Amino acid sequence: MIRDLGETFDDKLPRIPFLTDDAQSIIDKEQRKLAEKKALDLSAEGTEFNRANAIIAETKLLLADPNYKLNIFQTSAYIDALKTVGRYDEAAKYGDEESTEIWNLIWSDKDDCGCSDIQTVILENGKVKPVSYSRKFTRRLIFSQRRKEWVGLIVCSGCGDISVK
Ligand SMILES: [Zn+2]
Repeated sequence: MIRDLGETFDDKLPRIPFLTDDAQSIIDKEQRKLAEKKALDLSAEGTEFNRANAIIAETKLLLADPNYKLNIFQTSAYIDALKTVGRYDEAAKYGDEESTEIWNLIWSDKDDCGCSDIQTVILENGKVKPVSYSRKFTRRLIFSQRRKEWVGLIVCSGCGDISVK
């Protein structure tokens, strides 16, 4: 009776998984595969691109009929697809203000805003060490039809300037 209780009790204990080298190498391999797939999805030949191009092609067929009216969901899927492949000029025609701004940024050759890096100090091994950080951060990646590659949409935290690089 006591033994039975013990066994029941033992079964309820959480099992602690021990990661063997073999198991770790399988996980590493899977993670590499996922990373490669993600990179391919985002490439100009990837599935995300292909899907967007398919939506655009399909929508253009519908729009060939001048009496056809896209509903709000078809319109938003079309705008998203146009933006995915970097056709911000066409997305802008649907009143997407962000697209107008991004399209103009991609084709502009404006200078850097010129804000200096943030200067500060950190303590390293008990000593004060000066360091600097850029004020610019990448908001997200966008596809540039000008350069035919993914570029960063860069925002300056100092002055709010937006640029693509
Ligand atoms: Zn700035």
